[in-house]
Amino acid sequence: MKYDISNIKINKCQKSKIDTFDFEDLKFGAKFTDHMLICNYKDGQWQTAEILPYSPIQLEPSARVFHYGQAIFEGMKAYKDSNDDIWLFRPEENYERFNKSATRLAMPTLPKELFIDGLKTLLNVEREWVRKGMGNSLYIRPFMIATEGGVVASPSNEFLFCIILSPAKSYYSGKVKVQIAEHFSRAANGGIGAAKAAGNYSAQFYPTQLAQQAGYNQVIWTDSATHTKLEEAGTMNVFFRINDTLITAPTSERILDGVTRKSLIKLGEHLGYKFEVRHILVQEIIEAFEKGELKEIFGAGTAAVVNQIEGFEYGGKYYELPHLDDEKSYALQLKDALTKIQNKLADDPFEWTVKI
Ligand SMILES: *Cc1c(COP(=O)(O)O)cnc(C)c1O
Repeated sequence: MKYDISNIKINKCQKSKIDTFDFEDLKFGAKFTDHMLICNYKDGQWQTAEILPYSPIQLEPSARVFHYGQAIFEGMKAYKDSNDDIWLFRPEENYERFNKSATRLAMPTLPKELFIDGLKTLLNVEREWVRKGMGNSLYIRPFMIATEGGVVASPSNEFLFCIILSPAKSYYSGKVKVQIAEHFSRAANGGIGAAKAAGNYSAQFYPTQLAQQAGYNQVIWTDSATHTKLEEAGTMNVFFRINDTLITAPTSERILDGVTRKSLIKLGEHLGYKFEVRHILVQEIIEAFEKGELKEIFGAGTAAVVNQIEGFEYGGKYYELPHLDDEKSYALQLKDALTKIQNKLADDPFEWTVKI
């Protein structure tokens, strides 16, 4: 059955808070726009979607999400070009991944009309919140939670889908120091690592806190069985540059299939960079480091696009990467090329951007 988004109910706030909003001083993900989209799932189907003022939601204390963690989300961005048109970057990738996550968490999938057209309708209501100019974007957070009450360990029959929006500025967080995981894991074979599930994040917080207490910003996750293969950096996919080759692990049950990761590979190859998608061992980067061949490590994800890593700790030893001038950094070159496409400041050879 086709979902009809044209029934959507729109209930606008009386007064926008945009006039008192400081777009210059933005902490990532801290403030939200005037409206949100919500849609309930019950009796085996998605109900009528609604756009309403951003506000708290009421749930039963026994709602399954609080007890069993049935919760998934997505992260994407909208950009405004110099003609005031609003663009999304590869939104179908996020839609498909959302449904994969839903299936893995025993949640209902969404019709495309609800996810994509619902988002476009919400963005049209919030047009003013998308700012022009390189580095400005509106971060989009679609999520779904299990709302049915009952402390019984079985999947919910009722769910809430919601989209909230947060103005973002590209921030240069500086390079980060990381610790390579020798004991903890964020995901295991057969688990939910390939889903964008809330539980993957709660599993990461404690080991990340320990790394921070030891003076590092983030953890590079290794495979749970042997802790010898390098898999992800914090909540980002990870690339290693040995000489002139960029290496990243193949996606798997333990590694999230990031849109930024696959876009960097495709765009980078188009621009003449060399990539290898294969397992990469901790031992390999240490040997490359010792020969002076390990040039760069960086994380890739929607929020920061690319995050440079300045050094890593492993086995009690700290390895500081060479100091490359910015213009020699593949991480920064690729970040610049991708963000220009996203901001409609460069040709889009793969037709990744979608006008709303
Ligand atoms: C979201 C996420 C990424 C990055 O995915 P993008 O689609 O590029 O934003 C990478 N790793 C993990 C664990 C994630 O949750």
